[in-house]
Amino acid sequence: MEQACQFHPLEPATYLCTECESHSCDRCVDDSSYNPVPRCFRCNRSLETLGPGNIEPFWRRLQQSFKYPLTTQSLVFIVVLSVLCSIAIYMPFALLIYLALFGSGFKYCLSCLSHTADGYMKPPDITEAYEGGFRKMLVLIAMLFITGLVMKLANTYLGSAIGGLVALMVTLSFPAIIINYAISDNMIESLNPANIFKLVNSIGLPYGLILAFILIMLGSIAVLYQLVAVIPSSLDSIFLFAVTFYYAVVLHHLMGYMVFQYQTALGYSARLQGGANKRRDSHAIAMAKFSALIKAAEVSDATQLLQEQVQLNPDNLALNSRYFELLLASKNQPALVSIVPKYFDLLERNGRPDLISRNYKRLIINLPKFEIEDACLKLLIAQVCFANNDPKVAIKLLHGMHKKHPDFKQLIPALTLLAEALDEFPQYQAHSSACRKMISRLTS
Ligand SMILES: [Zn+2]
Ligand SMILES: [Zn+2]
Repeated sequence: MEQACQFHPLEPATYLCTECESHSCDRCVDDSSYNPVPRCFRCNRSLETLGPGNIEPFWRRLQQSFKYPLTTQSLVFIVVLSVLCSIAIYMPFALLIYLALFGSGFKYCLSCLSHTADGYMKPPDITEAYEGGFRKMLVLIAMLFITGLVMKLANTYLGSAIGGLVALMVTLSFPAIIINYAISDNMIESLNPANIFKLVNSIGLPYGLILAFILIMLGSIAVLYQLVAVIPSSLDSIFLFAVTFYYAVVLHHLMGYMVFQYQTALGYSARLQGGANKRRDSHAIAMAKFSALIKAAEVSDATQLLQEQVQLNPDNLALNSRYFELLLASKNQPALVSIVPKYFDLLERNGRPDLISRNYKRLIINLPKFEIEDACLKLLIAQVCFANNDPKVAIKLLHGMHKKHPDFKQLIPALTLLAEALDEFPQYQAHSSACRKMISRLTS
């Protein structure tokens, strides 16, 4: 079984840190745009790529593959090419025109193949087909000629039995030759039996699926060629060309996908591009790093990271809550002293007084020595706690306010609240009336 991400046991690992000897998935690496190669969250060194992890096999993507050419550009390209191919026969130098047109189609198909192999699941720009199509077509003819020659020579010099076998091998190798050519752009390399063997061997049995698929496509095109008798003859050739080019694009996309799927075995590295694989922003990367550091029990690094993020996003409530929870769990009193006033203020601005009273109570349970210094904050907490049926906390916060904060502007409301809180307990009756006396003295 392949290695799993150290932080996500169900996620296959896509990167390896040789320094930490740890495996990570795509989420658990620092892939910010200024890192050409993703870096390790823990040691910040460049990572080795292990391939893209879980890739849907190409035989489960047949439906999407048939939709692959359904983009405006590709469809226009297929239709225009088909119309041109249908009328080229009436033009001078028809053969040369055909070579150029088929060459453009072939070049576009090769672009689809290599583009897909790079992880792009949308067809490439049609400008890919404009130049160099003629040369690609000549290369294809040369490849057909060379493979044909090999079959002929085998048949002549090695006898018909071995000759037949060689012919079969060469025919079966043809998709591999096209794949190698699309990737290497080198005819000799792609015809090299060692490279063909390497590709087929890396893909293994599913290579046979592509062959079966090609046979089915050829079969359905042959059926279509017989059916077109019912279509008006001026349109039937356009239709046939269009279907053929359409199938060719789908087929090359599938072959490209096969390379993408087996990239690790083929010594190739690509990731799904576009769509769901949008670049994360620096905050998202930082949060992924935070989650990784916490799972690795590196609390002080995690705290520092979260502190930086809170400074960058002071109004992000979820982030501030997370930071508060971390500090509370790690009983980090100095950091709590500085964050609590800002955090409670943020909770109030977001209309969550219930969380202020709940979090304050959790705070004093975990850190009994924690003290609020600011008079305004004391009053705020006392108010929400009193409103949430907790007069005891209000009394604890407000008693002695007139001594500790004699110049507090809201001293009267604070003392009034204290008196109301004391009223809740019959045994504090004396304190309550003393408090009210002080209020009338201060207000007179
Ligand atoms: Zn992970
Ligand atoms: Zn590392």
